[in-house]
Amino acid sequence: MTKYVYLFKEGNADMRNLLGGKGANLAEMTSLGMPVPQGFTVTTEACNAYYDNGKVIVDDIIKQINDALGKTEKIVGKKFGDSNDPFLVSVRSGARASMPGMMDTILNLGLNDESVLGLAKLTNNPRFAYDSYRRFMQMFADVVMDISKDNFEALLSAKKKVKGVVQDTELDANDLKALVSEYKAKYLELKGEPFPQDPKEQLIEAITAVFRSWDNPRANTYRRLNSIPYEWGTAVNVQSMVFGNMGDDSGTGVAFTRNPSTGENELYGEYLFNAQGEDVVAGIRTPKPIAELKQDNPSLYKEFQDIASKLEEHYRDMQDMEFTIERGKLYMLQTRNGKRTAQAALKIAIDLVKEGVLSEKEALLKVEPKQLDSLLHPQFEPKALAEAKLITTGLNASPGAATGRVVFTADRAKELKEKDGLPVILVREETSPEDIEGMIVSSGILTARGGMTSHAAVVARGMGTCCVAGAGQVHVYEDEKYFEVSGEKYYEGDWISLDGSTGKVYGEKVETQDATVSEDFETLMTWSDKFRVLDIRANADNPRDAKVAYRYGAHGIGLCRTEHMFFEEGRISAVREMIAAKNQAERKKALEKILPMQKSDFIELYKEMKGYPVTIRYLDPPLHEFLPTEQDDIEALAKDMGIPTNELTATIIELHESNPMLGHRGVRLSITYPEIAEMQTRAVIEAAIEVNKEGMNVIPEIMIPLVGDVKELKYVKDVVVKTANEVIKKANVKLEYHVGTMIEIPRAAILADEIAKEAEFFSFGTNDLTQMTFGFSRDDAGKFLADYYEKKIFENDPFAHIDQKGVGKLMKMAVQLGKETRPDIKLGICGEHGGDPQSIEFCHNIGLSYVSCSPFRVPIARLAAAHANIKNPR
Ligand code: ADP
Ligand code: MG
Ligand code: MG
Repeated sequence: MTKYVYLFKEGNADMRNLLGGKGANLAEMTSLGMPVPQGFTVTTEACNAYYDNGKVIVDDIIKQINDALGKTEKIVGKKFGDSNDPFLVSVRSGARASMPGMMDTILNLGLNDESVLGLAKLTNNPRFAYDSYRRFMQMFADVVMDISKDNFEALLSAKKKVKGVVQDTELDANDLKALVSEYKAKYLELKGEPFPQDPKEQLIEAITAVFRSWDNPRANTYRRLNSIPYEWGTAVNVQSMVFGNMGDDSGTGVAFTRNPSTGENELYGEYLFNAQGEDVVAGIRTPKPIAELKQDNPSLYKEFQDIASKLEEHYRDMQDMEFTIERGKLYMLQTRNGKRTAQAALKIAIDLVKEGVLSEKEALLKVEPKQLDSLLHPQFEPKALAEAKLITTGLNASPGAATGRVVFTADRAKELKEKDGLPVILVREETSPEDIEGMIVSSGILTARGGMTSHAAVVARGMGTCCVAGAGQVHVYEDEKYFEVSGEKYYEGDWISLDGSTGKVYGEKVETQDATVSEDFETLMTWSDKFRVLDIRANADNPRDAKVAYRYGAHGIGLCRTEHMFFEEGRISAVREMIAAKNQAERKKALEKILPMQKSDFIELYKEMKGYPVTIRYLDPPLHEFLPTEQDDIEALAKDMGIPTNELTATIIELHESNPMLGHRGVRLSITYPEIAEMQTRAVIEAAIEVNKEGMNVIPEIMIPLVGDVKELKYVKDVVVKTANEVIKKANVKLEYHVGTMIEIPRAAILADEIAKEAEFFSFGTNDLTQMTFGFSRDDAGKFLADYYEKKIFENDPFAHIDQKGVGKLMKMAVQLGKETRPDIKLGICGEHGGDPQSIEFCHNIGLSYVSCSPFRVPIARLAAAHANIKNPR
């Protein structure tokens, strides 16, 4: 028979999966001999059983709960529902990972019309008894029965008004007694049945409500954002009540063993006299800093301090503790590893190493890679943020905070920014490569459409610019120069603010603060490099990105998307000429114009990377993406090219594809137009020869995209090798270079052994690989993925975290097949997943040699790679 219920004294901290974090730590504190009000934990397995049984707690589990209740009554020496000295409990949810969005705690459960009298008599404090009952009724109705607490708050306010008082505490016992009757009537009216008087019924209802809350929308959203699996379930803790509201020798508080915002080694927290749990957070009265407890009650303070340091020593991490004092006696209600800012996380990790508590490896594991984001990007002033008006939420596509004036076109972004230097935010339905210059000058980017790998998201992450993508409630009226969200309009020039880390959009200016990189940061990075085996490269398309990448510690470029260079000022017309060319001669003429530009880009890129490898991907996107769409642009281009407008228009129509993502792109372009690959090869090789003359040792890596068959690769590789060798021979130098391919079409993964005959390296392009494996468009999937989450078909966005089961299987297969043909094949990843910690762990585990990510993610990747190798050494 499965054991579904554990007394606190039966558990320990290692049973977190079964007992949840809160339950496991209450058990651990109990076994450490600390003063913990006793109780029991209903396991996460019971939660899963509840769902497996059609949302019912089966009799066996109910029986185990009742048994545990009986044993706890013996320990405490009170009886549930006793009318003289009632045993009261709190019911507290507690999952494996701490999870806001779950059910609120219910206090004082077990009270009813009869036991409230006993409690009043026993404590000689009827006010306290009725106050406890009133609170319990309200919490139970709200949390368990879904009757909004507003109904009860209204009665409370009315009562205060009648009595002419302001504070709850000014109501006396009789007022509260009357209020209890009014609450009961209200409950009956709204629920259609009386407030449950049987404590056991109250208890089972409350436990059921905790299980139910595991599946509420808030919890589901939180889980998805934090990759917490649904199947973990939540545990429920039933704990005997202690009362902080029994007078001035009682109180309640929270404290951290170190300062959670700076990491300073000092006891930090606050407490409130004569108060119960929720009063501290509710802000009814202002709590006192914990340091004052030292004056108020030195011996109690000392006891608490001893427990705090014992806990920190025991858990070897900063602790976040909740405590209550009942008539001068201290009780511990919770401890856990405390949440902290990134800055504090670094300081605490490093201090704990200095103090000899942790090894460097252990310290690294104390810092969440994702957390580093906040050290690398501007953030909102916390105070300003708290007051800001939230207008909508989209995808948290690229982290950081931005405030600026709304603009709707790239051109206006540049104009406005240049005019007065004040920040702008580019708001668009979705961005396209043509917007690049406007994106560069913008402080933030907001799009109404598109997912985590949409153009806006990818480019913004690359630039380290804050971006909220796919904010579906936003309607953009570009021509009229406004956007609308829930009935409100924001015009060009209006201030808005974006939080790219949460996806939140605010309808006003919110002050931001700059990122600062500290000495602690450098220390952490040095340790990370010591323990990782994965190399970290960056996706960088231009010298500016490469510089950032190098500064953040990238050892090479894993992906340079050459087409992004084409959109820079002064180049696009040459590119357009190349595309619209009607024959090879015309095309070659245009390519001659592009060659020196590409070459000089590559020279700069190589220089920025100071000899580290640079992987250059040949032209990839469908050509029509480069062509003008507006009539006047078409006319201007036609004039430039010396051809009639209608001829150009015809070419543009001809290039149109109904499915461009599956169209004439990638390697297919070089097969139709080998002269493009020729030109790109000359640029890559000539640039390398030139910088190597200056004493560098660049070994270029040429990467052919979208290959699905070895013959495609072979055809283009022959062009590349022939061209490269001619250039090298002519220059009369020696130059090593490599030709490889992206693995981004499922067929390429399946035939990786054949492809490895020609490819010297593989780089997994997991954006396309995900898109093509699932068969859904990465730009449109956002529209229906929400339904998938809701219906529990998917738990995660496969564009944010590698789908290890499906896409991952293809990757594993390709790694294995590739190595069979070419044991020393170099393997990397250059999709957006290359910067995602859990995907990095996967890449480590399947044996890749490097991950490549956007420059601002490099530090995160360095730490994540260290985590991966510490957890699973290779
Ligand atoms: P959360 O996870 O939201 O912090 P908790 O379950 O920790 O919720 O409960 C919130 C607060 O309720 C606690 O900090 C404590 O003050 C109070 N509380 C919970 N259980 C008890 C109890 N058995 N006795 C007294 N107060 C309690
Ligand atoms: Mg708590
Ligand atoms: Mg691709």
